[in-house]
Amino acid sequence: MRIGAHVDAGDPLAEAAARKAEVVQFFLADPKGWKAPEEHPDADGLRAAEVEVYVHAPYVINVATTNNRIRIPSRKLLLSHATAAARVGAKGLIVHGGHVGKGDDVAVGFDNWRKTFAFAAESGGFATPILIENTAGGDNACARRFDALARLWDAIGSYEVGFCLDTCHAHAGGEALLDVVDRVKAITGRIDLVHANNSRDAFDSGADRHDNLGQGMIDPELLVAVVRAAGAPVVVETPGGVDGQGKDIAFLRDRVTA
Ligand SMILES: [Zn+2]
Repeated sequence: MRIGAHVDAGDPLAEAAARKAEVVQFFLADPKGWKAPEEHPDADGLRAAEVEVYVHAPYVINVATTNNRIRIPSRKLLLSHATAAARVGAKGLIVHGGHVGKGDDVAVGFDNWRKTFAFAAESGGFATPILIENTAGGDNACARRFDALARLWDAIGSYEVGFCLDTCHAHAGGEALLDVVDRVKAITGRIDLVHANNSRDAFDSGADRHDNLGQGMIDPELLVAVVRAAGAPVVVETPGGVDGQGKDIAFLRDRVTA
């Protein structure tokens, strides 16, 4: 099982080596901005690397929303990130499940997701597999609670769509971790990547604050059990840079392979 971390995009391979990571994830543009991704200076090195690469799409992307001025640019940005992610050899482009606004019907959000894949298919499809990630907060989210996730998959499951399970988001989003892998797989049929994070907040709090694996509100052994059951590559998105993430990677590697 390959284990790694979300790192700064400047020199991902050096960041991976410093953490003894076998997987890296990074942003190709400001996660809070709408700028198109630029060519990564080490694209050739990343593509050829032994380290497995994932790219996280900006947080501003919300393809589900009923707001045209967010949805249309979100689609375009997701497509351009998928193209840029392919140039660094990424195995997946992770994007949050998104949400509709207060008072909107979430069914429209699921259909907007379907239209996103239909739109991409018209231009030859996404250049990198899209992995939709479960989210922690909001009442109108497409991928917070698994009843919504099931409806999302009803809408898009006929396209080639992957899933990224975030343990902090599941816990804070109100989905128990005990049998989470089985419950996700019953819906999506797959887990392509695990974001292994502890949570600073309580079960079902709706808050999205990651913590190091040995800290926070989730029993660390439960995180180990989820990672083991998922059998997918793992990325920690935890604080503390080389030191904090290096320890989290070592923690998982020791226990998951034990
Ligand atoms: Zn995550």
